[in-house]
Amino acid sequence: MDKVIGLRCVECGKLYPEGEVLYTCPACGDKEPWGILDVEYDYERQARTFNKDWLQRAEHSIWRYLPILPIGDGARLPTLQCGWTPVMELPKIAKRWGIANFFVKDDGRLPTGSFKDRASCVGATRAVELGYDTITCSSTGNAASSLAGFSANLGLKAYIFVPAHAPEAKVAQLRIFKSTVLLVEGTYDEAYYLCQDAAKTFGWYNRNCAINPVLIEGKKTSGLEAAEQLAARIPDWVSVAVGDGCTIAGIWKGFVEMKRFGVIDKLPRLLGVQAAGAQPIYEAWQAGDEKLRPRRAETLADSIAVGRPRNQTKALRAIRASGGAMVSVEDEEILSAMYELAQHTGIFGEPAGVTGVAGLLRAIGNGTVKPNETVLHVLSGSGLKDVRSAMRACPEARRIGVSLDDVRRVVAEG
Ligand SMILES: *Cc1c(COP(=O)(O)O)cnc(C)c1O
Ligand SMILES: [Zn+2]
Repeated sequence: MDKVIGLRCVECGKLYPEGEVLYTCPACGDKEPWGILDVEYDYERQARTFNKDWLQRAEHSIWRYLPILPIGDGARLPTLQCGWTPVMELPKIAKRWGIANFFVKDDGRLPTGSFKDRASCVGATRAVELGYDTITCSSTGNAASSLAGFSANLGLKAYIFVPAHAPEAKVAQLRIFKSTVLLVEGTYDEAYYLCQDAAKTFGWYNRNCAINPVLIEGKKTSGLEAAEQLAARIPDWVSVAVGDGCTIAGIWKGFVEMKRFGVIDKLPRLLGVQAAGAQPIYEAWQAGDEKLRPRRAETLADSIAVGRPRNQTKALRAIRASGGAMVSVEDEEILSAMYELAQHTGIFGEPAGVTGVAGLLRAIGNGTVKPNETVLHVLSGSGLKDVRSAMRACPEARRIGVSLDDVRRVVAEG
């Protein structure tokens, strides 16, 4: 692949030629913190094709960015549509919150209902391109359900390792897409290492974001799209939930690349938001550190219930490079943000999908985000992924008899 210069280790800086390593930095070894690699492109070369003319002609999916994705130009692409989710301008709720403007990029509308589709789409395509027929991941839910969907589309066999507690809708997706689901009776960490061992033993392609550098390239497409969609109106802030840290780092890479190509001339600041029950990256940010203290994760936002994040280096560097900030929020704030956003905009996110909204409200409250500033929230998962949490977030429905008088009573209450 001429477009890729190589894969650079974020820990030791060593650059590996494309094709030499698949996953993490051999020099850093396979003990934590292993060196996560970052794909580097020949941007000057790619600028000859990837320019405004290209973008004019390109299709509205993540494949419009093929010149800066780690997939060969002749690769077989999935037929499942992925990408180009809408960015909606929501001035009414911005006014309610006392900020200049508010946008939502609704990645809950991706094919299996979460941001993870961007990563799985690229990961599964790469697996096929490399000649694998089997792929695996360990996940708390969305990564798994999106991998199962793209595997079904591409005809890959998928082995999915999940802890036994994932929300029902996500497990339903795994089953309906006919992946082999392994409900591990152990912690997420144990499931994670078991998946690594199995991938090595059986020769499967490993889709775990924490070790596979092509996944974050999929995630960056959200930032690439948002940059194009907002163009001259790049927001002051982008808010997003942080679990492993791969999503926020990917979004940042997308914006940075678009600035490099001259599509935008300003970069946003990142507002990274963690749930208080799973906030090791937030704590490292506060301490001005890159090292983490792993913890037990306890939050209803299952998609970011990560006690031992793996992509903190990329995430923290992105947040710092952007001049951004982090906040952490309680589960109650997440539920109330879910209801607040839904009732005022018609946009329904799963708990992790609206954690960034809860964080934004905090950041407005503590003066981090100013009244004259604009914000883009990347909504990372559909509310239908976790109906139980949604039911907790809002009042119960009214039960009435088959009588107009009962209706009248409800109407009178307003
Ligand atoms: C995975 C996920 C996130 C966080 O992504 P990380 O890369 O783990 O930081 C946020 N929201 C949703 C819905 C997710 O599935
Ligand atoms: Zn290294």
